[in-house]
Amino acid sequence: MTVHQVPDTMPRPRDNPPARRHHGLGERLVLSELNPDAVVDQGQDEGVPLNLITFGHVREVCPKCKQHLKLVLRQARVRIAHLLCSDCDSCFDAHYANGKPALTP
Ligand SMILES: [Zn+2]
Repeated sequence: MTVHQVPDTMPRPRDNPPARRHHGLGERLVLSELNPDAVVDQGQDEGVPLNLITFGHVREVCPKCKQHLKLVLRQARVRIAHLLCSDCDSCFDAHYANGKPALTP
């Protein structure tokens, strides 16, 4: 008796290219909260205000207070680019549904 089993890992036909090829815009971003201490160097300089340079608001909103988040790119006291909620001071990382980081090229 010969049974030809088709393995589950058969390659799929190549006639199914990824439908979305546009560059992020219009795609929902996945937010994951970051520890602000890991993102921003709070510094040892007591009394020196932390001046974050923000790059405008993004479409994504804070999951907690529904405020539009601000984009903060890497700068003197910022270790990683992130999205900041100025309302509750939460920091978020953002990536696309396919796992590609949205904030770092
Ligand atoms: Zn918030």
